Amino acid sequence: MNYEIVCGLEVHVEMNTKSKIFCACSTAFGGEPNTHVCPVCSGQPGALPTLNRAAVEKAARTGLALGCDIAPVTRFDRKNYFYPDLPKAYQISQLYAPICRGGGLALESGRFIRLHEIHMEEDAGKLVHDPFTETTLCDYNRCGVPLMEIVTEPDFRSGEEAADFLERLRTLLDFLGVSDCKMQEGSIRADVNVSVRPVGSEALGVRTEMKNLNSIKAVARAVRAEAERQIELLREGRAVRQETRRWDDNKGASFAMRSKENAQDYRYFPEPDLPPVVLDEAFLSQVRRSMPELPEQKRARYLAEYGLTERDAAILLRSARLCRLLEGLIGRGIPAREAANWTLGEVLRLLGEDGLEPADLEIDEEKLARALRLLAAGRIGRPAARRAVEAVYREGADPELFCREHGLFLEKVGEGDLSAAVAKVLAENADAVEKYRAGSDKVFGFLVGRCMAALRGKADPASVNRALREALKR
Ligand code: ADP
Ligand code: MG
Ligand code: ZN
Repeated sequence: MNYEIVCGLEVHVEMNTKSKIFCACSTAFGGEPNTHVCPVCSGQPGALPTLNRAAVEKAARTGLALGCDIAPVTRFDRKNYFYPDLPKAYQISQLYAPICRGGGLALESGRFIRLHEIHMEEDAGKLVHDPFTETTLCDYNRCGVPLMEIVTEPDFRSGEEAADFLERLRTLLDFLGVSDCKMQEGSIRADVNVSVRPVGSEALGVRTEMKNLNSIKAVARAVRAEAERQIELLREGRAVRQETRRWDDNKGASFAMRSKENAQDYRYFPEPDLPPVVLDEAFLSQVRRSMPELPEQKRARYLAEYGLTERDAAILLRSARLCRLLEGLIGRGIPAREAANWTLGEVLRLLGEDGLEPADLEIDEEKLARALRLLAAGRIGRPAARRAVEAVYREGADPELFCREHGLFLEKVGEGDLSAAVAKVLAENADAVEKYRAGSDKVFGFLVGRCMAALRGKADPASVNRALREALKR
């Protein structure tokens, strides 16, 4: 019998609000343990939550971009479980009236993946297990960081489809500006639900769930391996158990953790400390107005208005950060093609050298634009511009000062010096001159190079070109 894969994702996205979802503590990643905590997010008796409006706006913005229905009234519920990463012993989440329902996202193949819902909840703390002392340490900085959980219908038929969805979702969230999207810092984590069924069957098979995968490649691998495990069980006439499994990406295999708890085990009930949230037309139109330009609109504008190639636009549109840089440079008067070339060339090269992602790019845009303006004004050459750009990127150098200190400014070479250099080069390179006269234009570049060298690289290439062409006519 042939089986097909059925997979659904629950994607946890940390929203990039400044403060937590129910208190004013900072959401910054990487602080000293337990320094971003207060009575509310550390679960002290009597402390009361206050809903962060920015988190609701970001969840609603995401829902609108994914074509979801936004609930007119959304409510929070208590999900009770006892585990040390959760000092209150319950998580404030949404079960009965999530903020968004429906909607979806098209894959590269054109297949449409339906969303079941998006709900808001608070993140839990981080447990650090120390194998040497056999102790576990708790860091509650992450407790109360706002999450949205984006839940799909079981519409994926392969690990590759799930990976493609995550890639597209991440790009969209990046452009929406609702999350840092740093998977290595855990700001996007996916729970992967997998079952298999005989091809042609409509009924869903028994599924397993693998929690907290934080790399897109791992998701693709996990789906494939888990489906194979289930198919083998069924072929041996055994049954798949509904359970939570842990995916070990290094071993390329999953391991049983616990049998699946159901909603009843969590004793959900409406959160008594938070009133229902009314999302009226005034709120929605405000969210719509603050909606940033999305990749599809950008693509059209980059081609029509900026005259970029399809290929350049496609690379830029993988990263909201690169698009921001490009648009910033253009806004500072750098011609679009030039801005795109430097962004996709030198800037990406420097990031690659440092092993960084575009999202990590930090550069003073104004200084970068000033370096490029020096080039456009013919005051420095291209090699000098590259050095200046690198200095801006590495040490935030002032481009004018940097070029002065390193003697990179082109000098206005006097006509006398210019023709003397040209005459010397022509005399020393009689072969090349002969080839040029015999019709080889290729040697012209070589002669320009010799002249630039004779002038110690300080003349502007346009005047050298002109002087050389004239001398060769004679
Ligand atoms: P829970 O909240 O208990 O994890 P849900 O019913 O909300 O369970 O489903 C969670 C995810 O599992 C959804 O993405 C859904 O599409 C997926 N899913 C549900 N049933 C199956 C199944 N039989 N096979 C694969 N995925 C499934
Ligand atoms: Mg689940
Ligand atoms: Zn707090």
